[in-house]
Amino acid sequence: MRVQLADRIKLDQLAAHAKAHAFLLLAETGAPMRVSSTYRTPARNRQVGGVPNSFHLRRRAVDFTSDGNTLIRAAVLAWSLRVGPGCTGPEEVLLERLGLPGQHLHVAW
Ligand SMILES: [Zn+2]
Repeated sequence: MRVQLADRIKLDQLAAHAKAHAFLLLAETGAPMRVSSTYRTPARNRQVGGVPNSFHLRRRAVDFTSDGNTLIRAAVLAWSLRVGPGCTGPEEVLLERLGLPGQHLHVAW
């Protein structure tokens, strides 16, 4: 799956482990997903209403956008994918606002 340049730039801001997971998830999902958020500064996190201890502040969370069925499939995949022998998978897999404006899949590793 080809990852668009704008999304690559966002994914480059992640910690190495989260970045590896994000690219693997995009590849395995096999349907187009865009990246709407990765790293946030504390100011940006407050602005978008993020929780104060958000994984976005620690470069460990990604928000993906797509159609609902793709996001559900990606959520299931996110739970199962591992990037190495010691990898225990994600910390958070959250389908946010599904079926509503702003729907996205939040995954933290
Ligand atoms: Zn998020």
